[in-house]
Amino acid sequence: MFGSAQPGPVDLLIIGGGINGAGIARDAAGRGLSVMLVEQDDLASHTSSASTKLVHGGLRYLEYYEFRLVREALMERERLLTMAPHIIWPLQFVLPHSKAQRPAWMVRAGLFLYDHLARRERLPASRAVRFCSGPTGMHPASSVLQAHYRRGFTYADCWVEDSRLVVLNAMDAASRGATIRTRTKLISAHPEGAVWEAEIQTAGGGRETVTARALVNAAGPWVGEILSAKPVRNDGKTMRMVKGSHIIVKRLYEGHYAFILQNPDKRIVFAVPYEQDFTLIGTTDIPYTDDPATVTISPEETLYLSESVSRYFRIPVTPAQVVRSYSGVRPLYDDHAKNAAAVTRDYVLDVTGGGSQPALLSVFGGKITTFRKLAEHALEKLLPVMGSEPGKGWTSSIALPGGDMKNADFESYLASIIANHPGFPEKYLHRLVRAYGTRALQILGQAASLADLGEEFGGHLTAAEVDYLVQHEWARTAEDILWRRSKLALHVPAGTREKLTAYLAATHNAAIPANHEMPTG
Ligand code: FAD
Repeated sequence: MFGSAQPGPVDLLIIGGGINGAGIARDAAGRGLSVMLVEQDDLASHTSSASTKLVHGGLRYLEYYEFRLVREALMERERLLTMAPHIIWPLQFVLPHSKAQRPAWMVRAGLFLYDHLARRERLPASRAVRFCSGPTGMHPASSVLQAHYRRGFTYADCWVEDSRLVVLNAMDAASRGATIRTRTKLISAHPEGAVWEAEIQTAGGGRETVTARALVNAAGPWVGEILSAKPVRNDGKTMRMVKGSHIIVKRLYEGHYAFILQNPDKRIVFAVPYEQDFTLIGTTDIPYTDDPATVTISPEETLYLSESVSRYFRIPVTPAQVVRSYSGVRPLYDDHAKNAAAVTRDYVLDVTGGGSQPALLSVFGGKITTFRKLAEHALEKLLPVMGSEPGKGWTSSIALPGGDMKNADFESYLASIIANHPGFPEKYLHRLVRAYGTRALQILGQAASLADLGEEFGGHLTAAEVDYLVQHEWARTAEDILWRRSKLALHVPAGTREKLTAYLAATHNAAIPANHEMPTG
Protein backbone atom coordinates (compact mmCIF):
# COMPACT_ATOMS: atom_id res chain seq x y z
CA MET A 1 0.00 0.00 0.00
CA PHE A 2 2.61 2.54 1.14
CA GLY A 3 6.28 3.08 0.64
CA SER A 4 6.33 3.63 -3.13
CA ALA A 5 9.94 4.05 -4.11
CA GLN A 6 11.01 7.34 -5.64
CA PRO A 7 11.00 8.63 -8.39
CA GLY A 8 7.29 7.61 -8.41
CA PRO A 9 4.98 9.70 -6.27
CA VAL A 10 5.83 9.90 -2.58
CA ASP A 11 2.93 9.41 -0.20
CA LEU A 12 3.57 12.69 1.63
CA LEU A 13 5.41 15.80 0.60
CA ILE A 14 5.78 17.85 3.79
CA ILE A 15 6.45 21.58 3.49
CA GLY A 16 8.25 22.90 6.54
CA GLY A 17 11.03 21.61 8.79
CA GLY A 18 9.75 23.14 12.02
CA ILE A 19 8.49 21.00 14.86
CA ASN A 20 5.18 20.21 13.20
CA GLY A 21 6.63 19.16 9.83
CA ALA A 22 9.38 17.11 11.49
CA GLY A 23 6.92 15.49 13.93
CA ILE A 24 4.55 14.51 11.12
CA ALA A 25 7.47 13.18 9.03
CA ARG A 26 8.59 10.94 11.91
CA ASP A 27 5.13 9.58 12.63
CA ALA A 28 4.31 9.02 8.95
CA ALA A 29 7.61 7.31 8.13
CA GLY A 30 7.11 5.00 11.12
CA ARG A 31 3.68 4.04 9.73
CA GLY A 32 5.34 2.94 6.50
CA LEU A 33 4.55 5.95 4.32
CA SER A 34 7.11 7.26 1.88
CA VAL A 35 7.88 10.81 2.99
CA MET A 36 9.80 13.77 1.65
CA LEU A 37 10.18 16.88 3.81
CA VAL A 38 11.37 20.14 2.29
CA GLU A 39 12.60 23.02 4.43
CA GLN A 40 13.51 26.29 2.72
CA ASP A 41 16.19 27.20 5.30
CA ASP A 42 17.78 25.13 8.08
CA LEU A 43 15.65 22.84 10.25
CA ALA A 44 13.96 24.90 13.00
CA SER A 45 15.15 28.17 11.50
CA HIS A 46 12.00 30.03 12.38
CA THR A 47 9.32 29.74 15.09
CA SER A 48 10.56 26.38 16.36
CA SER A 49 13.86 27.85 17.57
CA ALA A 50 12.29 31.07 18.90
CA SER A 51 10.04 29.67 21.63
CA THR A 52 10.32 30.09 25.42
CA LYS A 53 11.42 26.42 25.32
CA LEU A 54 8.88 25.13 27.79
CA VAL A 55 7.08 21.82 27.60
CA HIS A 56 4.15 23.03 29.58
CA GLY A 57 0.42 22.73 30.01
CA GLY A 58 0.15 26.51 29.95
CA LEU A 59 -1.23 27.60 33.31
CA ARG A 60 -2.60 30.83 31.86
CA TYR A 61 -4.68 29.04 29.20
CA LEU A 62 -6.96 27.77 31.98
CA GLU A 63 -8.31 31.32 32.20
CA TYR A 64 -9.45 30.99 28.60
CA TYR A 65 -11.11 27.63 29.36
CA GLU A 66 -8.68 25.82 27.03
CA PHE A 67 -9.10 22.61 29.03
CA ARG A 68 -8.61 20.27 26.03
CA LEU A 69 -5.32 21.92 25.11
CA VAL A 70 -4.03 22.11 28.70
CA ARG A 71 -4.90 18.46 29.42
CA GLU A 72 -3.28 17.22 26.22
CA ALA A 73 -0.18 19.34 26.88
CA LEU A 74 0.09 18.13 30.49
CA MET A 75 -0.11 14.52 29.34
CA GLU A 76 2.60 15.17 26.77
CA ARG A 77 4.99 16.61 29.39
CA GLU A 78 5.73 13.29 31.02
CA ARG A 79 5.71 11.36 27.72
CA LEU A 80 8.26 13.71 26.16
CA LEU A 81 10.41 13.60 29.30
CA THR A 82 10.69 9.84 28.81
CA MET A 83 11.25 10.02 25.05
CA ALA A 84 14.05 12.58 25.21
CA PRO A 85 15.43 12.91 28.76
CA HIS A 86 18.62 14.51 27.42
CA ILE A 87 16.97 17.59 25.89
CA ILE A 88 13.89 17.80 28.13
CA TRP A 89 14.09 18.17 31.89
CA PRO A 90 11.86 19.22 34.82
CA LEU A 91 11.90 22.84 35.90
CA GLN A 92 10.37 24.37 39.02
CA PHE A 93 8.43 27.61 38.55
CA VAL A 94 8.09 30.22 41.29
CA LEU A 95 4.99 32.38 41.16
CA PRO A 96 5.33 35.35 43.54
CA HIS A 97 1.93 36.58 44.65
CA SER A 98 0.71 39.97 45.82
CA LYS A 99 -2.69 41.52 46.46
CA ALA A 100 -2.51 43.47 43.19
CA GLN A 101 -2.72 40.25 41.18
CA ARG A 102 -5.37 37.61 40.52
CA PRO A 103 -6.74 36.61 43.96
CA ALA A 104 -4.82 33.82 45.75
CA TRP A 105 -7.86 31.51 45.78
CA MET A 106 -8.01 31.74 41.97
CA VAL A 107 -4.32 30.91 41.57
CA ARG A 108 -4.70 28.02 44.05
CA ALA A 109 -7.72 26.69 42.12
CA GLY A 110 -5.85 27.00 38.81
CA LEU A 111 -2.86 25.11 40.21
CA PHE A 112 -5.13 22.42 41.67
CA LEU A 113 -6.60 21.88 38.18
CA TYR A 114 -3.11 21.97 36.67
CA ASP A 115 -2.00 19.25 39.10
CA HIS A 116 -5.00 17.03 38.41
CA LEU A 117 -6.02 17.43 34.76
CA ALA A 118 -3.53 14.71 33.76
CA ARG A 119 -1.61 11.92 35.46
CA ARG A 120 1.76 12.96 36.89
CA GLU A 121 4.48 10.45 37.69
CA ARG A 122 7.72 12.33 37.63
CA LEU A 123 6.77 15.93 38.29
CA PRO A 124 5.93 17.18 41.80
CA ALA A 125 2.62 18.83 42.70
CA SER A 126 2.28 22.58 43.21
CA ARG A 127 2.55 24.08 46.68
CA ALA A 128 2.31 27.35 48.56
CA VAL A 129 5.64 28.93 49.59
CA ARG A 130 6.85 31.80 51.75
CA PHE A 131 9.58 34.19 50.78
CA CYS A 132 10.26 35.09 54.39
CA SER A 133 10.98 32.67 57.21
CA GLY A 134 7.94 30.75 58.41
CA PRO A 135 6.69 27.27 59.22
CA THR A 136 7.27 25.96 55.67
CA GLY A 137 10.82 27.33 55.49
CA MET A 138 12.25 29.88 53.12
CA HIS A 139 12.41 29.46 49.37
CA PRO A 140 15.76 30.48 47.82
CA ALA A 141 13.84 32.97 45.63
CA SER A 142 13.48 35.08 48.80
CA SER A 143 16.86 36.65 48.21
CA VAL A 144 16.00 37.48 44.59
CA LEU A 145 12.56 39.02 45.09
CA GLN A 146 11.80 42.43 46.54
CA ALA A 147 11.02 42.19 50.25
CA HIS A 148 7.29 42.89 49.94
CA TYR A 149 6.77 39.65 48.01
CA ARG A 150 6.21 37.43 51.00
CA ARG A 151 4.13 34.60 49.62
CA GLY A 152 3.69 32.66 46.44
CA PHE A 153 3.43 29.24 44.86
CA THR A 154 5.65 26.73 43.10
CA TYR A 155 4.72 24.23 40.42
CA ALA A 156 6.57 22.10 37.88
CA ASP A 157 6.76 22.08 34.09
CA CYS A 158 9.61 21.12 31.76
CA TRP A 159 12.35 22.74 29.72
CA VAL A 160 13.09 21.67 26.14
CA GLU A 161 15.89 22.43 23.70
CA ASP A 162 13.36 23.38 21.01
CA SER A 163 15.54 23.35 17.89
CA ARG A 164 17.18 20.07 18.91
CA LEU A 165 13.75 18.50 19.35
CA VAL A 166 13.05 19.33 15.69
CA VAL A 167 16.34 17.84 14.53
CA LEU A 168 15.84 14.65 16.56
CA ASN A 169 12.42 14.16 14.96
CA ALA A 170 13.93 14.66 11.51
CA MET A 171 16.72 12.19 12.30
CA ASP A 172 14.25 9.60 13.48
CA ALA A 173 12.10 10.15 10.38
CA ALA A 174 15.19 9.72 8.18
CA SER A 175 16.15 6.51 9.99
CA ARG A 176 12.68 5.21 9.05
CA GLY A 177 13.15 6.05 5.38
CA ALA A 178 12.04 9.69 5.09
CA THR A 179 13.97 12.02 2.81
CA ILE A 180 14.79 15.30 4.54
CA ARG A 181 15.92 18.15 2.30
CA THR A 182 16.99 21.39 3.89
CA ARG A 183 17.58 24.63 1.98
CA THR A 184 14.92 23.32 -0.40
CA LYS A 185 11.86 25.44 -1.08
CA LEU A 186 8.45 24.52 -2.39
CA ILE A 187 7.78 26.93 -5.25
CA SER A 188 4.39 25.71 -6.45
CA ALA A 189 2.11 22.70 -6.46
CA HIS A 190 -0.89 21.81 -8.53
CA PRO A 191 -3.13 18.74 -8.75
CA GLU A 192 -2.41 16.47 -11.72
CA GLY A 193 -5.04 13.73 -11.60
CA ALA A 194 -4.79 12.02 -8.22
CA VAL A 195 -1.35 13.41 -7.32
CA TRP A 196 0.26 16.76 -6.62
CA GLU A 197 2.93 17.92 -8.97
CA ALA A 198 5.21 20.14 -6.95
CA GLU A 199 8.08 22.28 -8.10
CA ILE A 200 10.90 22.64 -5.61
CA GLN A 201 14.01 24.79 -5.64
CA THR A 202 16.99 22.80 -4.44
CA ALA A 203 19.82 23.95 -2.20
CA GLY A 204 21.98 24.43 -5.28
CA GLY A 205 19.39 26.74 -6.88
CA GLY A 206 18.10 24.23 -9.45
CA ARG A 207 14.48 23.22 -9.93
CA GLU A 208 12.97 19.72 -9.61
CA THR A 209 9.50 18.28 -9.87
CA VAL A 210 8.24 16.00 -7.11
CA THR A 211 4.93 14.12 -7.30
CA ALA A 212 3.06 13.27 -4.13
CA ARG A 213 -0.24 11.65 -3.15
CA ALA A 214 -0.70 14.20 -0.39
CA LEU A 215 0.75 17.56 0.54
CA VAL A 216 1.28 18.53 4.19
CA ASN A 217 1.37 22.28 4.65
CA ALA A 218 3.35 22.66 7.89
CA ALA A 219 4.88 25.97 6.82
CA GLY A 220 4.16 27.70 10.15
CA PRO A 221 3.94 31.48 9.55
CA TRP A 222 3.91 30.77 5.78
CA VAL A 223 0.92 28.42 5.92
CA GLY A 224 -1.39 31.05 4.40
CA GLU A 225 1.10 31.93 1.67
CA ILE A 226 1.24 28.28 0.58
CA LEU A 227 -2.56 28.09 0.57
CA SER A 228 -3.12 31.30 -1.32
CA ALA A 229 -0.60 30.29 -3.98
CA LYS A 230 -2.27 26.96 -4.67
CA PRO A 231 -5.57 26.18 -6.37
CA VAL A 232 -6.96 24.57 -3.23
CA ARG A 233 -9.87 24.99 -0.88
CA ASN A 234 -9.28 25.39 2.84
CA ASP A 235 -12.77 26.03 4.19
CA GLY A 236 -11.91 29.66 4.88
CA LYS A 237 -9.58 28.87 7.79
CA THR A 238 -7.03 31.57 8.37
CA MET A 239 -3.94 32.15 10.43
CA ARG A 240 -3.02 35.08 12.65
CA MET A 241 0.59 36.03 13.16
CA VAL A 242 1.62 37.12 16.65
CA LYS A 243 5.21 38.14 17.33
CA GLY A 244 6.94 37.05 20.53
CA SER A 245 10.40 38.19 21.63
CA HIS A 246 12.92 37.18 24.29
CA ILE A 247 15.97 38.85 25.79
CA ILE A 248 19.01 37.06 27.21
CA VAL A 249 20.93 38.69 30.07
CA LYS A 250 23.83 37.52 32.25
CA ARG A 251 22.53 35.20 35.00
CA LEU A 252 20.36 37.17 37.43
CA TYR A 253 20.25 34.56 40.21
CA GLU A 254 21.69 31.21 41.30
CA GLY A 255 19.55 28.10 41.35
CA HIS A 256 17.68 25.88 38.94
CA TYR A 257 14.21 27.38 39.07
CA ALA A 258 12.28 29.82 36.92
CA PHE A 259 9.92 32.68 37.70
CA ILE A 260 6.46 33.26 36.28
CA LEU A 261 5.69 36.96 36.74
CA GLN A 262 2.37 38.67 36.28
CA ASN A 263 2.36 42.15 34.74
CA PRO A 264 -0.12 44.96 35.35
CA ASP A 265 -1.52 44.25 31.82
CA LYS A 266 -2.35 40.73 33.16
CA ARG A 267 0.18 39.12 30.78
CA ILE A 268 2.78 36.85 32.26
CA VAL A 269 6.52 36.88 31.59
CA PHE A 270 8.97 34.09 32.39
CA ALA A 271 12.52 34.48 33.72
CA VAL A 272 14.30 31.17 33.19
CA PRO A 273 17.84 29.95 33.98
CA TYR A 274 19.51 29.60 30.60
CA GLU A 275 22.73 28.00 29.40
CA GLN A 276 24.26 28.01 32.93
CA ASP A 277 25.50 31.58 32.75
CA PHE A 278 22.37 33.43 31.57
CA THR A 279 18.73 34.24 32.28
CA LEU A 280 16.16 34.11 29.49
CA ILE A 281 13.28 36.58 29.76
CA GLY A 282 10.15 36.37 27.61
CA THR A 283 7.84 36.80 25.98
CA THR A 284 5.71 39.44 24.28
CA ASP A 285 2.49 39.16 22.19
CA ILE A 286 2.44 41.67 19.33
CA PRO A 287 0.17 41.42 16.27
CA TYR A 288 2.44 41.00 13.22
CA THR A 289 1.90 41.46 9.50
CA ASP A 290 5.41 41.77 8.02
CA ASP A 291 7.71 39.10 6.58
CA PRO A 292 8.15 36.35 9.22
CA ALA A 293 11.73 35.80 8.03
CA THR A 294 12.84 39.24 9.20
CA VAL A 295 11.10 39.48 12.57
CA THR A 296 13.16 41.28 15.24
CA ILE A 297 12.67 42.64 18.73
CA SER A 298 11.71 46.33 19.10
CA PRO A 299 13.18 48.68 21.74
CA GLU A 300 9.69 48.82 23.34
CA GLU A 301 9.64 45.04 23.76
CA THR A 302 13.12 45.06 25.31
CA LEU A 303 11.99 47.72 27.78
CA TYR A 304 8.73 45.88 28.53
CA LEU A 305 10.60 42.64 29.30
CA SER A 306 13.22 44.41 31.43
CA GLU A 307 10.52 46.20 33.42
CA SER A 308 8.55 42.97 33.88
CA VAL A 309 11.45 41.52 35.83
CA SER A 310 12.49 44.76 37.58
CA ARG A 311 9.01 44.99 39.07
CA TYR A 312 9.78 41.82 41.08
CA PHE A 313 13.55 41.47 41.50
CA ARG A 314 15.65 43.34 44.07
CA ILE A 315 18.20 44.20 41.41
CA PRO A 316 16.50 45.78 38.38
CA VAL A 317 17.20 44.72 34.80
CA THR A 318 18.00 47.35 32.18
CA PRO A 319 18.02 47.10 28.36
CA ALA A 320 21.78 47.73 28.47
CA GLN A 321 22.23 44.30 30.06
CA VAL A 322 20.85 42.42 27.05
CA VAL A 323 23.51 40.21 25.47
CA ARG A 324 21.29 38.72 22.78
CA SER A 325 17.63 38.66 21.81
CA TYR A 326 15.46 36.65 19.49
CA SER A 327 11.97 36.92 18.06
CA GLY A 328 9.56 34.52 16.44
CA VAL A 329 6.13 34.59 14.89
CA ARG A 330 3.40 32.39 16.32
CA PRO A 331 1.32 31.03 13.44
CA LEU A 332 -1.96 30.91 15.39
CA TYR A 333 -5.33 29.72 14.21
CA ASP A 334 -7.51 32.83 13.95
CA ASP A 335 -10.37 32.43 16.41
CA HIS A 336 -11.11 36.18 16.18
CA ALA A 337 -10.03 36.87 19.79
CA LYS A 338 -9.78 40.61 20.53
CA ASN A 339 -6.22 40.73 21.82
CA ALA A 340 -3.14 38.87 20.66
CA ALA A 341 -2.45 37.20 24.03
CA ALA A 342 -5.94 35.67 24.03
CA VAL A 343 -5.79 34.01 20.58
CA THR A 344 -6.09 30.24 21.04
CA ARG A 345 -2.82 28.27 21.30
CA ASP A 346 -4.67 25.11 20.29
CA TYR A 347 -4.16 23.67 16.82
CA VAL A 348 -6.57 23.18 13.95
CA LEU A 349 -5.97 20.69 11.15
CA ASP A 350 -7.66 21.23 7.83
CA VAL A 351 -7.89 18.40 5.29
CA THR A 352 -9.19 18.72 1.74
CA GLY A 353 -9.15 16.48 -1.32
CA GLY A 354 -9.95 12.80 -1.51
CA GLY A 355 -11.58 10.77 -4.27
CA SER A 356 -10.05 11.87 -7.55
CA GLN A 357 -8.33 14.87 -5.89
CA PRO A 358 -4.96 14.61 -4.12
CA ALA A 359 -5.13 15.33 -0.40
CA LEU A 360 -3.90 18.47 1.35
CA LEU A 361 -3.46 18.84 5.10
CA SER A 362 -2.79 22.29 6.55
CA VAL A 363 -1.61 22.89 10.10
CA PHE A 364 -2.77 26.02 11.92
CA GLY A 365 -1.36 26.88 15.34
CA GLY A 366 0.07 24.39 17.80
CA LYS A 367 2.78 24.35 20.42
CA ILE A 368 6.14 22.67 20.71
CA THR A 369 4.61 20.74 23.64
CA THR A 370 1.79 19.19 21.62
CA PHE A 371 3.68 18.39 18.38
CA ARG A 372 3.52 14.60 18.87
CA LYS A 373 -0.25 14.53 19.39
CA LEU A 374 -0.68 17.01 16.55
CA ALA A 375 1.22 14.62 14.24
CA GLU A 376 -0.91 11.68 15.39
CA HIS A 377 -4.13 13.61 14.81
CA ALA A 378 -2.85 14.84 11.43
CA LEU A 379 -2.30 11.29 10.17
CA GLU A 380 -5.59 10.06 11.63
CA LYS A 381 -7.34 12.76 9.58
CA LEU A 382 -5.24 12.54 6.43
CA LEU A 383 -4.94 8.81 5.82
CA PRO A 384 -8.69 8.08 5.43
CA VAL A 385 -8.87 10.91 2.86
CA MET A 386 -6.03 9.15 1.02
CA GLY A 387 -8.12 5.96 1.09
CA SER A 388 -5.99 4.24 3.73
CA GLU A 389 -6.42 2.96 7.26
CA PRO A 390 -4.59 5.28 9.67
CA GLY A 391 -3.21 2.36 11.70
CA LYS A 392 -2.10 2.83 15.28
CA GLY A 393 -0.11 5.70 16.75
CA TRP A 394 3.34 4.47 17.76
CA THR A 395 5.38 7.52 18.71
CA SER A 396 4.62 7.79 22.43
CA SER A 397 6.68 4.80 23.48
CA ILE A 398 9.76 5.10 21.24
CA ALA A 399 12.69 7.25 22.36
CA LEU A 400 13.99 9.98 20.08
CA PRO A 401 17.62 9.61 18.91
CA GLY A 402 19.93 9.68 21.94
CA GLY A 403 17.04 9.38 24.38
CA ASP A 404 17.36 5.62 24.83
CA MET A 405 18.73 5.79 28.39
CA LYS A 406 17.80 3.16 30.97
CA ASN A 407 14.68 4.33 32.84
CA ALA A 408 15.06 7.67 31.03
CA ASP A 409 17.51 8.50 33.83
CA PHE A 410 19.76 11.27 32.54
CA GLU A 411 21.82 11.70 35.72
CA SER A 412 22.79 8.01 35.94
CA TYR A 413 23.66 7.92 32.25
CA LEU A 414 25.81 11.05 32.57
CA ALA A 415 27.56 9.61 35.64
CA SER A 416 28.48 6.49 33.64
CA ILE A 417 29.86 8.57 30.76
CA ILE A 418 31.94 10.68 33.16
CA ALA A 419 33.26 7.56 34.89
CA ASN A 420 34.25 5.99 31.56
CA HIS A 421 35.91 9.12 30.16
CA PRO A 422 38.30 10.38 32.85
CA GLY A 423 40.44 12.30 30.35
CA PHE A 424 37.66 14.79 29.52
CA PRO A 425 36.46 17.84 31.50
CA GLU A 426 33.15 16.99 33.24
CA LYS A 427 31.58 20.20 32.00
CA TYR A 428 32.30 19.18 28.42
CA LEU A 429 30.82 15.70 28.89
CA HIS A 430 27.75 17.25 30.53
CA ARG A 431 27.18 19.49 27.52
CA LEU A 432 27.73 16.63 25.09
CA VAL A 433 25.33 14.24 26.84
CA ARG A 434 22.70 16.98 27.23
CA ALA A 435 22.86 17.64 23.50
CA TYR A 436 23.27 14.16 22.05
CA GLY A 437 22.27 11.73 24.81
CA THR A 438 23.51 8.22 24.06
CA ARG A 439 24.73 9.43 20.64
CA ALA A 440 27.49 11.37 22.42
CA LEU A 441 29.43 8.12 22.15
CA GLN A 442 29.47 8.49 18.36
CA ILE A 443 31.38 11.76 18.82
CA LEU A 444 33.66 10.53 21.57
CA GLY A 445 34.53 7.29 19.76
CA GLN A 446 37.78 5.86 21.14
CA ALA A 447 39.17 9.30 22.09
CA ALA A 448 40.96 9.58 25.43
CA SER A 449 40.94 13.38 25.62
CA LEU A 450 39.76 16.49 23.77
CA ALA A 451 43.01 16.55 21.83
CA ASP A 452 41.95 13.33 20.10
CA LEU A 453 38.79 14.94 18.70
CA GLY A 454 40.51 17.06 16.07
CA GLU A 455 40.68 20.83 15.64
CA GLU A 456 39.08 22.86 18.42
CA PHE A 457 37.19 25.96 17.28
CA GLY A 458 36.48 27.45 20.73
CA GLY A 459 34.29 26.52 23.69
CA HIS A 460 35.43 22.87 23.34
CA LEU A 461 33.68 22.57 19.99
CA THR A 462 35.81 20.06 18.10
CA ALA A 463 36.04 18.79 14.54
CA ALA A 464 34.58 15.43 15.66
CA GLU A 465 31.41 17.15 16.86
CA VAL A 466 31.17 19.36 13.77
CA ASP A 467 31.62 16.32 11.51
CA TYR A 468 28.85 14.52 13.41
CA LEU A 469 26.53 17.52 13.01
CA VAL A 470 27.19 17.73 9.28
CA GLN A 471 26.89 13.99 8.69
CA HIS A 472 23.87 13.24 10.89
CA GLU A 473 22.05 16.50 11.63
CA TRP A 474 21.98 18.44 8.34
CA ALA A 475 24.20 21.25 9.72
CA ARG A 476 25.69 23.30 6.90
CA THR A 477 26.75 26.68 8.31
CA ALA A 478 28.37 28.10 11.44
CA GLU A 479 24.98 29.54 12.44
CA ASP A 480 23.33 26.09 12.19
CA ILE A 481 25.95 24.75 14.59
CA LEU A 482 26.42 27.65 17.01
CA TRP A 483 22.79 28.70 17.38
CA ARG A 484 20.39 25.87 16.44
CA ARG A 485 22.24 22.55 17.04
CA SER A 486 23.77 24.12 20.15
CA LYS A 487 23.77 27.43 21.96
CA LEU A 488 27.54 27.67 21.82
CA ALA A 489 27.20 31.11 20.22
CA LEU A 490 26.68 32.39 23.77
CA HIS A 491 29.89 30.85 25.06
CA VAL A 492 32.58 30.73 22.37
CA PRO A 493 35.35 33.33 22.05
CA ALA A 494 35.53 35.83 19.18
CA GLY A 495 36.86 34.27 16.00
CA THR A 496 35.12 30.90 16.50
CA ARG A 497 32.52 31.56 13.81
CA GLU A 498 35.20 32.43 11.26
CA LYS A 499 37.32 29.37 12.10
CA LEU A 500 34.27 27.15 11.88
CA THR A 501 33.17 28.64 8.56
CA ALA A 502 36.63 28.04 7.10
CA TYR A 503 36.60 24.43 8.32
CA LEU A 504 33.12 23.78 6.89
CA ALA A 505 34.18 25.19 3.53
CA ALA A 506 37.43 23.24 3.42
CA THR A 507 36.26 19.94 4.83
CA HIS A 508 32.60 19.58 4.03
CA ASN A 509 31.21 21.82 1.33
CA ALA A 510 33.34 20.21 -1.38
CA ALA A 511 32.38 16.74 -0.17
CA ILE A 512 28.66 17.35 0.08
CA PRO A 513 26.57 18.11 -2.98
CA ALA A 514 24.43 21.19 -2.49
CA ASN A 515 21.12 19.28 -2.49
CA HIS A 516 22.42 16.23 -0.68
CA GLU A 517 20.10 13.95 1.20
CA MET A 518 21.52 13.00 4.56
CA PRO A 519 22.34 9.50 5.69
CA THR A 520 20.09 8.26 8.45
CA GLY A 521 20.68 9.22 12.06
P1 FAD B 1 7.95 26.76 12.10
O1 FAD B 1 8.87 26.34 13.17
O2 FAD B 1 8.01 28.19 11.72
O3 FAD B 1 8.24 25.86 10.85
C1 FAD B 1 7.70 26.13 9.57
C2 FAD B 1 8.81 25.96 8.56
O4 FAD B 1 8.27 25.98 7.25
C3 FAD B 1 9.84 27.09 8.61
O5 FAD B 1 11.09 26.58 9.04
C4 FAD B 1 9.88 27.62 7.18
O6 FAD B 1 11.18 27.95 6.74
C5 FAD B 1 9.29 26.45 6.39
N1 FAD B 1 8.70 26.88 5.12
C6 FAD B 1 7.80 27.87 4.92
N2 FAD B 1 7.49 27.97 3.61
C7 FAD B 1 8.22 27.02 2.96
C8 FAD B 1 8.36 26.63 1.59
N3 FAD B 1 7.69 27.25 0.61
N4 FAD B 1 9.19 25.61 1.28
C9 FAD B 1 9.90 24.97 2.25
N5 FAD B 1 9.82 25.31 3.57
C10 FAD B 1 8.99 26.32 3.91
N6 FAD B 1 5.37 26.35 22.36
C11 FAD B 1 5.57 25.59 23.45
O7 FAD B 1 5.15 24.44 23.52
N7 FAD B 1 6.25 26.08 24.53
C12 FAD B 1 6.72 27.34 24.59
O8 FAD B 1 7.36 27.72 25.55
C13 FAD B 1 6.47 28.18 23.47
N8 FAD B 1 6.88 29.46 23.49
C14 FAD B 1 6.73 30.23 22.38
C15 FAD B 1 7.22 31.53 22.41
C16 FAD B 1 7.17 32.30 21.26
C17 FAD B 1 7.68 33.71 21.29
C18 FAD B 1 6.65 31.76 20.06
C19 FAD B 1 6.69 32.57 18.80
C20 FAD B 1 6.12 30.48 20.05
C21 FAD B 1 6.14 29.71 21.21
N9 FAD B 1 5.64 28.41 21.23
C22 FAD B 1 5.80 27.62 22.34
C23 FAD B 1 4.91 27.87 20.08
C24 FAD B 1 5.81 27.05 19.15
O9 FAD B 1 7.08 27.61 19.07
C25 FAD B 1 5.18 26.98 17.76
O10 FAD B 1 3.85 26.54 17.86
C26 FAD B 1 5.91 26.00 16.85
O11 FAD B 1 7.29 26.21 16.88
C27 FAD B 1 5.40 26.14 15.42
O12 FAD B 1 6.07 25.20 14.64
P2 FAD B 1 5.80 25.07 13.09
O13 FAD B 1 6.49 23.83 12.65
O14 FAD B 1 4.34 25.16 12.85
O15 FAD B 1 6.41 26.40 12.45
